[in-house]
Amino acid sequence: MLMLDKYNRRINYLRISVTDRCNLRCIYCMPEEGIKTLNHEEILNFSEILDVVQLVVKQGVDKIRITGGEPLVRRGIVELIKQIADVEGVVDLAMTTNAVLLPKFAKPLYDAGLKRINVSLDTIDALQFSKITRGGNIAETLTGIKVAQEVGFKPIKINCVIQQNSNEPDARAVTKYCEDNNLQIRYIRQMDLEKGLFWQVDGGEGGNCKSCNRLRLTSNGLLKPCLFSDLEYNIRELGVEQALELALTNKPYCGTNSHRNYFSGIGG
Ligand code: SF4
Repeated sequence: MLMLDKYNRRINYLRISVTDRCNLRCIYCMPEEGIKTLNHEEILNFSEILDVVQLVVKQGVDKIRITGGEPLVRRGIVELIKQIADVEGVVDLAMTTNAVLLPKFAKPLYDAGLKRINVSLDTIDALQFSKITRGGNIAETLTGIKVAQEVGFKPIKINCVIQQNSNEPDARAVTKYCEDNNLQIRYIRQMDLEKGLFWQVDGGEGGNCKSCNRLRLTSNGLLKPCLFSDLEYNIRELGVEQALELALTNKPYCGTNSHRNYFSGIGG
C-alpha cells in the first residue's frame, strides 16, 4: 500500500521517540538548565507504540527509526525492538543513539531484529567531546561503536553535527576516524527550530522537504507531520487513525519553524 500526502509525496518512514530522557547533555540539544522531563504516565507504553506501528505499516510505512532523547535509557528497549521487528511489513528498523550504552545493548538489539544504527559523534577529541556533551566520556561512545561493529551492525552511520561545513577541524577528524574504521559519515548542520534554520543532511535525506517521506511520533503520543512546524495530533485524544489522517492531510510542503518542538523530545 502507498501512503501519500496531499503533495503526492510517499510517506513510508516513521521516526519514534521512545523517551525524552538522555544520559548526555549536548549543548545544541538541551539547554544548560536541562529540561522538565515527562512523567511516566505521559509516556506511551509499548502496546500504544505497537498500535501506531501496526496501523502505519498497514497503510504503507516500511521504515521505522527509534530515537529519543537517548533510546537506550528506555527500560525494556530490547523487548520493544523485538515487538516492532516482528510486525510484518517493517522492512527497515534503525536506531539513532549516542552509543554510550551500546557495549551492553548491541548484541541483544541485534538479536532482537534491529537492522541499523546511527551514532551521534561530533568530535574525536576527548576534551571537546566532554564540552559538547556537558561531561560525556568519549571512550564510552567509541567503545560502543566498536562493539556494535563486532556484533555485526553494518553499515554504521555517524551523525556529525557541524556549524557551517565539513571542513571544520572536528568534522575533518571525525571523517578520518570514519575512513579508518569503515564507518559512513553524514554531516548535519546545526539546526534552529525557533528560527527555522535547517539544511539537507549531507550524506542523507533529512531536510529535503520536496521529497520528505517522514512523520514523527513523540514519546508522549504526538504525531507530528513536520519537524519545523507546530502541527501535532495527540493519538490518545484523537485515536491513532484520526491522528494519522490529520497528520497526512495537513503535512506542510516545507518546514517553517517550531516553538513547540525541542530536539530531546522529538529526536531530530
Ligand atoms: S522540514 Fe518538515 S517537510 Fe521539510 S524535510 Fe523536515 S520534516 Fe520534512
